[in-house]
Amino acid sequence: NSEAFDTEVDSICPYCGVGCQLTYQVKDNRIINVKGREGPSNLGRLCVKGRFGFDYPRHPARLTKPLMRKPGVPKGVDPDFDPANPLTHFYEVEWDEALDFAARGLSHLRAEYGRDVLAGFGSAKCSNEEAWLFQKLVRTGFGSNHVDHCTRLCHASSVAALIECIGTGAVTASFMQAEQADVVILTGCNPAVNHPVAATFFKQAAKKGTKILILDPRGQALNAYAHKVVRFAPGTDVFLFNAMLHVIVTEHLYDETYISQHTEGFEALKQHVMRFSPEAMAPECGVEADEIRAVARLYANADKAMIFWGMGISQHTHGTDNARCLISLALACGQTGRPGTGLHPLRGQNNVQGASDAGLIPMVFPDYQPVTEAQVQSAFEELWGTPLSDKPGLTVVEIMHAIDAGTIRGMYILGENPAMSDPDLNHARSALAKLEHLVVQDLFVTETAQFADIILPAAAWAEKDGTVTNTNRQVQMGRAAIDPPGEAKPDWWIIQALANRMGLNWHYTHPRDVFAEMKQGMNSLNHITWDRLEQEESVTYPCAGDDEPGQDIVYSDAFPTLTGRAKFSAASPLPPDETLDAEYPVVLTTGRQLEHWHTGSMTRRSNVLDALEPEAVASLSPTELQKCGLQPGDDLVITTRRGQIILKARVDPLMADGMVFVPFCYVEAAANILTNAALDPYGKIPEFKYAACRLSGN
Ligand code: SF4
Repeated sequence: NSEAFDTEVDSICPYCGVGCQLTYQVKDNRIINVKGREGPSNLGRLCVKGRFGFDYPRHPARLTKPLMRKPGVPKGVDPDFDPANPLTHFYEVEWDEALDFAARGLSHLRAEYGRDVLAGFGSAKCSNEEAWLFQKLVRTGFGSNHVDHCTRLCHASSVAALIECIGTGAVTASFMQAEQADVVILTGCNPAVNHPVAATFFKQAAKKGTKILILDPRGQALNAYAHKVVRFAPGTDVFLFNAMLHVIVTEHLYDETYISQHTEGFEALKQHVMRFSPEAMAPECGVEADEIRAVARLYANADKAMIFWGMGISQHTHGTDNARCLISLALACGQTGRPGTGLHPLRGQNNVQGASDAGLIPMVFPDYQPVTEAQVQSAFEELWGTPLSDKPGLTVVEIMHAIDAGTIRGMYILGENPAMSDPDLNHARSALAKLEHLVVQDLFVTETAQFADIILPAAAWAEKDGTVTNTNRQVQMGRAAIDPPGEAKPDWWIIQALANRMGLNWHYTHPRDVFAEMKQGMNSLNHITWDRLEQEESVTYPCAGDDEPGQDIVYSDAFPTLTGRAKFSAASPLPPDETLDAEYPVVLTTGRQLEHWHTGSMTRRSNVLDALEPEAVASLSPTELQKCGLQPGDDLVITTRRGQIILKARVDPLMADGMVFVPFCYVEAAANILTNAALDPYGKIPEFKYAACRLSGN
C-alpha cells in the first residue's frame, strides 16, 4: 500500500502510553498504511496495534450524526443491539437540537438540585487541550469537581504514593534509561503485551548486559530476557518488598549519603521493616528466603538501577502500599536522579499522563494543585473568571455509588466506557441506567452509549489536531490526517459548544488557543509552546529553556516537596479484599491483550487486529485446565460472587497454577462482570488484579 498514498501526515499512535511517533499514509481521505517515525520513545518501531490498528475510523458503525434515544427504549446493554444499525434504538437529530437537549438536561438538574448532582468522565484518549476543556467545563459550568477519568482504574494508587513520597506523580526517568542501567526491576507489568515498544528497550538493555529482574505472579515473554525471575503469590507484593527492604537494612546495603542528603523518615522505615525477615515472609509470598535475599542484593548493589511497574502493582486494595514500597527501595539505595536510575510507573493510555496533568482529576486542579488550597483556587478563579468549588470531587467508582444513592443525577461521559471498564459491571450498569440525563460523546455506540439520552458523534484521533503526553513526560504533536465522517466533530469543538449552551462564553478557534491558556495555569508547560511542538515534534517536561529538549531525568538535586527531600512511607501487608475459599478457590486477574485496546471499541473494529484475536478467551495453566476436565478451546465458565461469564479456555504455560487471566475487551464475556469494586483507600482504585473465582466446564 505504501506505493499508492496521496499524502503523508505525521502524528502519534492512539493506543498506549509509549507514545510512538508514526506517519499516516492517506489516500482518498482514508488511512491506508502506517509507518513508524524516529520518535524519541520508538526510534521508528511500532507494535502490531500501532502498525495495523488504523482502519477503525472508517468502520461502518462510526457515528456520523447526533443520536437521541427513542421514547420507551429501555437503557441498558442489549445483546441484540447492532451498533452499525443504531436507528432501532435511537433517532438522528441535527447538532443544534442535540446540543440544546444535552445542555438543557444538565442545566435543569443543576438548577433543580444544586451543583453537586452533575459529574463528568473525560478521556485519556483525547488530547491535552480536550482534557483541559473538559475539566474546565465541569468545574466552571457544572460547578463541582466531580471530574475523573481512567487514571482512576489504572495508576491512581501509584500517583498517590509518588505525590506523597517524592512530591509529584510522574516518572523520574524515561524508559530509554533502562539501557544505561545495570539492573532493571520489572514488577506487576507485562511490557511485551502492554507497552510493546518499551519492551524493545528492555530487550536491548538485556542484550547490552543489564540484569533484568522480573518479580510477578504471572510469567511473561520477557522472562526469556531476564537474569532472574521471581514468581510470588498473587496479592503478597508488600510482604515481598518489605522483606527486600529488611535485607537492605540488616545487611547495610543502603546508601547513607543519599539518604542523609535527599530523604527523611529512614529511621522509622528501618524499624518498621525489622518485622519482615525473608524467613518470615517466605511462606507468605511463596518465595524462598534465599531468593528474596538474592534479588534484594542484586538491586541494592547495582551502581545504577531502575524500577518499572504496571497495573499488577497499582490495581489492588493495597496498590498505594505496593508503590510506597517500591519508592522506599529506590530511596534507600539512592537509585534516582542519575542516568540509568529511576522510578517509572508505565502509564497505560496514550494520553493518561497528559489528561492527568491537565486536570481530569477530582481532588486537584491542573498540574496536581489541590482544589482545597485557597491560593490555588483563587489563581484558577482569576484565570477562568468564575468562582470555583474547593470541595474535592468524587472518583470514578464513587460516582457510580453516588448515582445509585441518587446524589449524582446527570453525567457527561466523553470517550470512556464504564459499562465495560468499571468493576462489578452489573452494579455499574444498573447505576448508569438510573441517571436522569446522560450525555455520551464517542466514535461508536459503545456499551455506555447504550445508556445515553443523547449521543454526540466525535472525531477519531487521526481526524483532529492536538498534543499528548506519554509515559516519559514527552509532550508530542498529533495532527489530523483525514476528515471526520459525516457530521462528527472534534471533541474540543463539542465541549465548547456544550459549554456555551450552559452559559459559558468560550471562543477557542483551534486547540492552539487552548494550549496557550493551559500554559497560564500549568508551570509544567514552561518553555513548551505549540510552535515548538509543531517544529520539534516532542519536548519533555520539565523544560528549563526555549532551546532545551527538557529533562529526561529529574530530581538530581532536590525533590519537589516542601522540604526538598523525599519521604519514606512504611507499608504493612494487607490481604486482598476477597479471600479464596472452597467455593471460590482460584484467583481471577484481568488486563489487556497485545492486539486489543481496553474495552475493544477501536481495536475490535480494526480488521487485522480483530482477525488476530477474534473471540473472548481466558488463559490458564495446563494443570488448572486439567482440573476443570477441559481441553483447549472448550467453553470455560468463570463464576465470582458477582456474576458469571462463559468464554474459550486457552492454555498458557506461563500462567501460575491457581490463577486465571481474562482480558476485559470482550462484551460477549465481559470480564468486569466478575471483578471486585473494593477500593484502595488512597488512590481509590479497584482491585482488578485479585478476585476469588470458580472455574468449570459449560
Ligand atoms: Fe502504539 Fe504503544 Fe504499540 Fe507504540 S507500543 S505502536 S504507542 S500501542
